[in-house]
Amino acid sequence: MRDNKQESANGIHFSIPDVIRKKRDGKELTEQEIQELVDRLVSTDSGHRAHDSQIGAFLMATFLNGLTNAETSALTRAMTFSGYTFQWPLEWKGTVADKHSTGGVGDKVSLVLAPALAACGLRVPMISGRGLDFTGGTLDKLEAIPGYTVLLSKEKMQAMLDTVGCCIVGQTEDIVPADKLIYALRDITATVEREELIVASIISKKAAEGLDSLILDVKTGRGAMMKELEQSRSLARKMVDVGKSFGMNVTALVTDMDTPLGNTIGNALEVAEAIQSLRNEGPEDLLTLTSYTGIVYLLQTLLTYVLTSI
Ligand code: URA
Repeated sequence: MRDNKQESANGIHFSIPDVIRKKRDGKELTEQEIQELVDRLVSTDSGHRAHDSQIGAFLMATFLNGLTNAETSALTRAMTFSGYTFQWPLEWKGTVADKHSTGGVGDKVSLVLAPALAACGLRVPMISGRGLDFTGGTLDKLEAIPGYTVLLSKEKMQAMLDTVGCCIVGQTEDIVPADKLIYALRDITATVEREELIVASIISKKAAEGLDSLILDVKTGRGAMMKELEQSRSLARKMVDVGKSFGMNVTALVTDMDTPLGNTIGNALEVAEAIQSLRNEGPEDLLTLTSYTGIVYLLQTLLTYVLTSI
């Protein structure tokens, strides 16, 4: 039976229904309970693996009752280390960077910014996501290009960073598998817009990437997960705090998502618009936001360099 208590990697026993019940009743979970839940989510042993319905119930209990800061950090950590975490060649130190958006309508900034940062000499190992709720996914957009594959091995990712300077890939069984599963389950259980779940989802991917620095684009408005400015600011602050606890340099921008970004919505159309933008022929709002994000990122890197050299 899946529900029986089982021994986790750290030797402590928990019953998944007990963990769900505790969260359902508004109590704080321990780090070990969260670790066990994530271990059993990604377990390859079908008798040990948590059932999707159990994870769905945990997500709804979390959606309704929230997570404390300690629980959010524990969930982010467990998700990050549910798979492989990258360590890049020493000579890349200081150059490994990424950007992540909380998602919006027509938001194709990643498709323009990743190659632009690579052209500035940075390495961008972007692990992205699929469409979530009503927001489009960068991976789905890229798959509009015939033959494009978003599932790369870690070796292939490193080769791409070495040659091209960037890659945009999806979570796999090896790379943040816990986010791959939780992301898809959130999408079908109406549990997407919970701040702590967004923090754990985004920061686990970025921490697994072994980044030196990260810039977050937190959307606010009618076309964003967070409709109110104060909610977006709170999400931005939490992501910065949890991201910094992984040793990354993190900056967040809160940007408007009351109207779609650029002139197009739809995977293939958005890819075409991103390519136009790389030729500096894109719509003004998209070019402005992409340049602004890139400039803030480069200033942040410069400032860190100056502060750590004196
Ligand atoms: N992007 C992610 O990767 N996760 C979220 O929860 C929201 C946006």
